[in-house]
Amino acid sequence: MISQKLQDAYNQQINRELFSEYLYLSMAAYFNSAGLKGFENFFLVQVQEERAHAMKMYEFVNERGGRVYLKAIEAPKTDFKSALDVFEMAHDHEKLVTSLINALMDLAIKENDHAARIHLNWFVEEQVEEESSMETIVNKLKLINGEGHGLLMLDNELAQRVFTPPPAK
Ligand code: MG
Repeated sequence: MISQKLQDAYNQQINRELFSEYLYLSMAAYFNSAGLKGFENFFLVQVQEERAHAMKMYEFVNERGGRVYLKAIEAPKTDFKSALDVFEMAHDHEKLVTSLINALMDLAIKENDHAARIHLNWFVEEQVEEESSMETIVNKLKLINGEGHGLLMLDNELAQRVFTPPPAK
């Protein structure tokens, strides 16, 4: 059985993963309106990833005899200046999520919850990938000054991204 403290923290993190989904959907909508369908696709795949993160936590809490309580999801930002602006924001957001996952892991260790610790290992590794994928695109956008032919090439590249569901366990 999951402890009350850890259950509360998981519920908080489910809310943050759902906020991430909402934020990235807002970024996808921005790129749609800017006519950059590849960038839109990148974020639509990210939206699916964030939902999968939330569901992985939802399943864990339930499996451990806990209860999921949903809270209000904060409104995401809707105005962005440029592709670089969006990706810098997404990169900062993933750095924040990493710190939240680390805090959740700290609590699992403090509560001596080994099952939670093992469950959270996947998220710790996933965050390395999340930060790195956002940072790679920030760097590419800086190289091409966020415009012109380079921007269209990057748009074509990001159009190829497909969603791969995370393993169930
Ligand atoms: Mg996430």
